[in-house]
Amino acid sequence: APVLELRDLCKGYNPGKPNEITVLRNVSLSVQRGEVVALVAPSGAGKSTLLHIAGLLDQPDTGTVRIGGEEMSGLSDRRRTAVRRDKVGFIYQFHHLLPEFTAAENIVLPQLAAGTPRKEAQERAEDLLARVGLSARTTHRPAAMSGGEQQRVAFCRALANGPALLLADEPTGNLDPTTSDTVFDALMALVRDTGLSALIATHNLALAARMDRTLRLDTGTLSEG
Ligand code: ADP
Ligand code: ADP
Repeated sequence: APVLELRDLCKGYNPGKPNEITVLRNVSLSVQRGEVVALVAPSGAGKSTLLHIAGLLDQPDTGTVRIGGEEMSGLSDRRRTAVRRDKVGFIYQFHHLLPEFTAAENIVLPQLAAGTPRKEAQERAEDLLARVGLSARTTHRPAAMSGGEQQRVAFCRALANGPALLLADEPTGNLDPTTSDTVFDALMALVRDTGLSALIATHNLALAARMDRTLRLDTGTLSEG
């Protein structure tokens, strides 16, 4: 089964009100195992809505979400939370690291929440940080790191629990163009190394061209290319 399969998703806001808006119209997509798919969309096209539904942070009005072949709509809130924690990694434009914790601790905490023993969690955090070139930053807090470093720590945190699927919303959108390129290289290396499947939203067509396939979202309708 595909790692992620969205079928005929429809989503709107403010039904029946004057400000009613349809954001997604019959959107379907699949991400196969090991595939890295670019999602290119102008601002306001419904990209965040689509990623939030795929990541079980929001529910569609109609349509289905399958992760690893499992249908998500009938699940209890508890089970959805468990799937989100164990199978899905999120990366946002802003790192959202916890400021009072070190880089390594930010990667250890989600593993403890998933039941991983502390020693194993610490080793995994250090291994992930080494892979993005941040071995010298394990005990630094976010405020003591550059924007590119903070974002690389956020990538490691997203992979902490060994997700099957990575969802990223403009993962380098907050960085200057030069930093953005090197940080994106680190992300792609990490994703390819782990054979992770990913859906990565970006405005940057040069970055999109480095992924396996591009999907375009425009006024709620998805197309290939
Ligand atoms: P993108 O991420 O592509 O910029 P979004 O998915 O955030 O787009 O939003 C798509 C459209 O839906 C926008 O017009 C936005 O204003 C609207 N929208 C998003 N979330 C809400 C909400 N909670 N209530 C009402 N409208 C919303
Ligand atoms: P935006 O799409 O405006 O950039 P974010 O993507 O950072 O905003 O977050 C969108 C929403 O998802 C927020 O309401 C945030 O609280 C929620 N959110 C972000 N990460 C998680 C998570 N891991 N679990 C649950 N909710 C989250």
